[in-house]
Amino acid sequence: MHIDETPTFYTATRKYDLSFPSLEGDIEADVVIIGGGFSGIHTALELAEHGNTDTVVLEGRYLGFGGTGRNGGQVMAGIGHDLDAIKADVGEDGLQAIFALSDLGPQIMRERIAKYNIDADFRSGYGYLAYNARQAKTLRNWEKEFRSLGSPYEIRYLDGAEVGEIIGSEVYQAGLLHMGGGHVHSLNLLLGEAKALSEIYGVRIFEYSPALEVTYGSSIVVRTAKGRVKARKLVWAVDGFNNRIEPELHRSTINVYAYNSVTEPLSDELIERISPIRGAYSDIRPVINYYRITNDNRLMFGSSTQVIERIPDDLKAWNRHLMLEVFPYLRDVKIDLAWGGPMATTRNLFPQIGTLADRPNAFFVQGYCGFGVTPSQIICKILAEGVLGGSDRYKLLSSISRADISGKDRYRAQLVSLGKAMHQISGYWHGRR
Ligand SMILES: Cc1cc2nc3c(=O)[nH]c(=O)nc-3n(C[C@H](O)[C@H](O)[C@H](O)COP(=O)(O)OP(=O)(O)OC[C@H]3O[C@@H](n4cnc5c(N)ncnc54)[C@H](O)[C@@H]3O)c2cc1C
Repeated sequence: MHIDETPTFYTATRKYDLSFPSLEGDIEADVVIIGGGFSGIHTALELAEHGNTDTVVLEGRYLGFGGTGRNGGQVMAGIGHDLDAIKADVGEDGLQAIFALSDLGPQIMRERIAKYNIDADFRSGYGYLAYNARQAKTLRNWEKEFRSLGSPYEIRYLDGAEVGEIIGSEVYQAGLLHMGGGHVHSLNLLLGEAKALSEIYGVRIFEYSPALEVTYGSSIVVRTAKGRVKARKLVWAVDGFNNRIEPELHRSTINVYAYNSVTEPLSDELIERISPIRGAYSDIRPVINYYRITNDNRLMFGSSTQVIERIPDDLKAWNRHLMLEVFPYLRDVKIDLAWGGPMATTRNLFPQIGTLADRPNAFFVQGYCGFGVTPSQIICKILAEGVLGGSDRYKLLSSISRADISGKDRYRAQLVSLGKAMHQISGYWHGRR
């Protein structure tokens, strides 16, 4: 089975019995959105909350088929990886404005879960972890920066033995507890939002309806196998699953693969030992390992290769090995499931929003670079502002340049490996190694 088709913890534990018809016949809408992951559904919801409910969402498979139904469910602060990479585009003031949005993602997520009563196992408690003194220094800086945003949640730097207050592992020197972050069952969050979209706002969603062809113009026509949608505006939200259907978008991202796994359910004592806060964690290396406790007492562990990009033959064994480096006392624990998937990644490791060249009514969002669960909430709020006529922050984010990644179709793995190697080296200067 191809890695894109692997079943996940999320599909096995989905709580919403929700499905949508496939499109048959010709319909019209104000906005048509292609892609039913976080980007498509958040944008549709944002539009609906502003009174624009005449939207159609077309999903090629089922809602959450992409990264949205495969990720680690980490709820973290911020957008993008190292903001310095976009300084030339947005300037110092722009950087500050973007940094000021850092807490918005978890905030929107909490508000939506409460507003629509979404059953998504949201839990507060995030630990950023440092292996060495250089990384510990970075966490001390992050503590100051995160606190400067005035978060109402506890943010606390932990050193030496204090680290044991939040995690049961000997491998870390320091940690930064951020109670504004945490973790979420991504697929149930997505489906809860889709339910609200459909039942409260009457937004039309179609599954198993891939867009096959788009004709641009003052009105846009999207053709599927058995129907067409004619709309005033379009939003592309297909991330790593673009498959060349829109070449302009395809050119500026490259897919990097990540792998997740869950253990069998663990005893309460073992969970307490691993994670006294039942939280989510990641180290802060250029390529992170990330993990969390699930609602049903499993350890979910996520990874990617550090330098050489490849898809391991045995995903369970791959993640188990990395998990045991952090928690050696889990050696007798069984891995129940492992899966993976592509993450659309950009040159500057910052997500891309805007409109296609010379097509002011064709919007897009893509390229979260493996950091999309929370940032998608912020980015899609701002994208919806663009669709609704524009805003200063839409202008700011859409002004960030998009570099093409040439050769990606033939040399994907080699280019990703090269990118990772460069990222590892620059990680020294960013205090991440
Ligand atoms: C294994 C893995 C682990 C990850 N871990 C984390 C994490 O822990 N934290 C984090 O923040 N981020 C993580 N991410 C990234 C995060 O999941 C993504 O950034 C985010 O879900 C992207 O959402 P999206 O809606 O833009 O794209 P997707 O969720 O990929 O949705 C795109 C959708 O478009 C559909 N589509 C494609 N082509 C068409 C077409 N022609 N017509 C109609 N529909 C189409 C696809 O079927 C898909 O459902 C991870 C990603 C992966 C793959």
